[in-house]
Amino acid sequence: MQRLTHEEILGWLRETRPAALDQLFAQADQVRRERVGDAVHLRGLVEISNYCVRQCHYCGLRAARSTPRYRMNREEIVACAHKAVELGFGTLVMQAGEDFGIEAEWLAGVIRQIKSETPLAITLSLGERLLDEARLWRQAGADRYLVRFETSDPELYAAIHPLRGAAISDRVELLRELRKMGYEIGSGVMAGIPGQTYEILARDIELFAELDLDMIGIGPFIAHPETPLGAPDVATAGEDQVPNSELMVLKAVALTRLVCPEANMPATTALATINTVDGREHGLESGANVFMPILTPSPYRQMYQIYPGKACVDEDATQCNQCLRGRIQRLNRSVGEGQGGRRSGGGEAAFGNASQSAAATKARQPLSDELGQKESSQPAEETLSQFVVLR
Ligand code: SF4
Repeated sequence: MQRLTHEEILGWLRETRPAALDQLFAQADQVRRERVGDAVHLRGLVEISNYCVRQCHYCGLRAARSTPRYRMNREEIVACAHKAVELGFGTLVMQAGEDFGIEAEWLAGVIRQIKSETPLAITLSLGERLLDEARLWRQAGADRYLVRFETSDPELYAAIHPLRGAAISDRVELLRELRKMGYEIGSGVMAGIPGQTYEILARDIELFAELDLDMIGIGPFIAHPETPLGAPDVATAGEDQVPNSELMVLKAVALTRLVCPEANMPATTALATINTVDGREHGLESGANVFMPILTPSPYRQMYQIYPGKACVDEDATQCNQCLRGRIQRLNRSVGEGQGGRRSGGGEAAFGNASQSAAATKARQPLSDELGQKESSQPAEETLSQFVVLR
């Protein structure tokens, strides 16, 4: 596959013609089918703590915000792991704010217990912790680590992520260190951060490829209203501002699939939040191959409010599982078996159903119709000759 150039990525991010975009989505879907198969992997997400020392300007969990806090105990987390096995998931994702109340040795013990009692892969998403802590958790059996760099632009990153005292925040370097420890590494960005230009988002996508990420999550920027960026008069990049729309997220997902053909990519909860009806399906049709059903028990799941109105907060784990499996079935895709890691494999169901899925894709309405795009006078062929992905 020939790499997309910076100008090509930029052109696609600015593209608005429905017929052209349908070709982009179809091509991403085809690459997804050929490179990671039809299986949709289910990663059970357990939000183990909503404490956070950081002050990210958009997040409902920022330290300065007064909100009820919780930290799950060992028994509760291990119970979620067994629930994940019962529901047929291959991975448990433990996520939290940057909470140093989660002690490294304590968490290592939890990881060891889950690895000894279940066949699950363990993914950690605990923010910027010390390298020694990450090393300890890797030795205890953790398989993957997620840390979103959110934007590749250092100035934009600094503008919305105040530092923790004198600490240095370099998530890209952290990802490189985690890779050296043997973790599968995942990252991601938000589309539509105030001040984010198309140039910046194009560079984000190029950085995904440069880092050869194993997992990539892309969602729309959604600010909690009780945060600095939740104010109505926030400064933007004007005409160059990337919108935080579903369409923009889907374009970024599709382009990311083309430049990172083997990455595991979730249809994110944030995408499902801005389109509760079929945002997840649109994600799967644009290159994604992972769902992350929430396992966090009540009342904690209602307290993990990065932004309000989060999809799936009112359902329990069993309902989430049934709902997501139904969505996968309706797309004629299959549920992944095993751990479904990029490097560790476990995706034996991945390639079993390609022709069925291809037929289903053809039978579906063009995605641009579902997104309500206006038709343009320019023919799609012209776009393709300009931006075609040579394979
Ligand atoms: S985005 Fe993450 S690190 Fe930032 S305040 Fe929210 S939970 Fe903490």
